[in-house]
Amino acid sequence: MARAQLSWNHRIRPMKFYSTRDRTHLVSLREAVVHGLAPDQGLYMPATIPTLSSDFYAGLKGRSFHEIAFDVAASIFGGDVEPAALRRIIDHTLQFDAPLVEVDDNLFALELFHGPTMAFKDFGARFLSRLHGHFARVESRDIVVLVATSGDTGGAVANGFFGVEGTRVVILYPSGKVSPLQEKQFTTLGSNITAVEVNGTFDDCQRLVKEAFADDELNRSCLLTSANSINIARLVPQMFYYFYAFGQARLQPSIFSVPSGNFGNLTAGLMARRMGLPVRTFIAATNANDVVPEFMKTGIFSPRPSIATISNAMDVGNPSNVERMMDLYDRNIVALRDDVVAFSCSDDETREAMRQVYRNKGYILDPHGAVAYLALKNFVAETRFKGTGIFLATAHPAKFKETVESTLNVTIDLPPNLARFASAKKSTRRIAPAMGALKDVLHDVLS
Ligand SMILES: *Cc1c(COP(=O)(O)O)cnc(C)c1O
Repeated sequence: MARAQLSWNHRIRPMKFYSTRDRTHLVSLREAVVHGLAPDQGLYMPATIPTLSSDFYAGLKGRSFHEIAFDVAASIFGGDVEPAALRRIIDHTLQFDAPLVEVDDNLFALELFHGPTMAFKDFGARFLSRLHGHFARVESRDIVVLVATSGDTGGAVANGFFGVEGTRVVILYPSGKVSPLQEKQFTTLGSNITAVEVNGTFDDCQRLVKEAFADDELNRSCLLTSANSINIARLVPQMFYYFYAFGQARLQPSIFSVPSGNFGNLTAGLMARRMGLPVRTFIAATNANDVVPEFMKTGIFSPRPSIATISNAMDVGNPSNVERMMDLYDRNIVALRDDVVAFSCSDDETREAMRQVYRNKGYILDPHGAVAYLALKNFVAETRFKGTGIFLATAHPAKFKETVESTLNVTIDLPPNLARFASAKKSTRRIAPAMGALKDVLHDVLS
């Protein structure tokens, strides 16, 4: 036992992570994961992106999702997390599949919505939460994840961390200002999840979280952390399914079309390619929020307020992972254009794509997957590409029930994963928007 661990320690050195704003600012995995964002507001990137062996690629076809994920994760985290612990983290993360489903001739949906909240963010949130649990165990002190939510983040984080040992989650949200189903996704779980209903606005919630992070007394009594979406530990698990899809697609070089908002999913794909995955082209597919397509065309990145669309998880006007994409390509947009083409479409075009696939194949797309499908379909037609085209289906259509039903003229049932929240009982702590009140809650949570 001790011997095996020794040889493992000597084989792979711990990975360093640098800030995209300063490559000389290097930190450990723990630091990058606990803090999420670098002090200079840059995003963390692994100091080296390893290439996986040709044996790994040749063997992809017959291997399980868990086995593939383990090799990918170990190549980056293997010097920091021992194999048995990494395997446990992956087993807990991947308790659902990511099947490829053919929805058009040689065009496949990679279904990433079979997790507890029925969207692809489950992969990142579950992996991150287990990695936090690992650090809590190693350091034997409690980790408190503190987040403010205006709706969606609360559900993904709460479900990701639910039941993870050594971690407590405190979610602040503005009373009466989130939708009933969203509220149910983080106020009904109990156990290590505490929902705090603040008599105030979302801005009040965010201010309280900031004050808590700056509070010395609190930081002495526990390890306070956030779970924001730019965390490197959310990006790495998003590489797993690109490799897995390639195995399922019988190892043909492929095209991936990625419905994008903050561009984390696409960045994960580009990192997979850097590790040797033979992807010919990535398509960055957006809705009317076309800051990145415009950037790809003109070379000018001009963030602006987001526009509301029917694929609202992609309504991002200042996508943060562009910083990682540019870092990966040494800020050379010409090199980026070799690997990535961009596409944007309107809500009407998205709806038409949903109708077309439903009519032809009886397959129901959610609006996000539909944007990626349409981008792929257009690209294949324009370039007469003959290989395998894969688009990422990021959400279950029932998550966007009203839009899907009105577009396709169908009724869809809430699947059990979503229905169970609707009937569960809400439980919260209600506080005034003041630090003293939040401290009382944190005190109780930690005792
Ligand atoms: C978050 C999200 C996206 C966008 O993913 P990014 O990594 O932010 O580009 C796409 N679809 C759905 C359903 C999402 O929740």
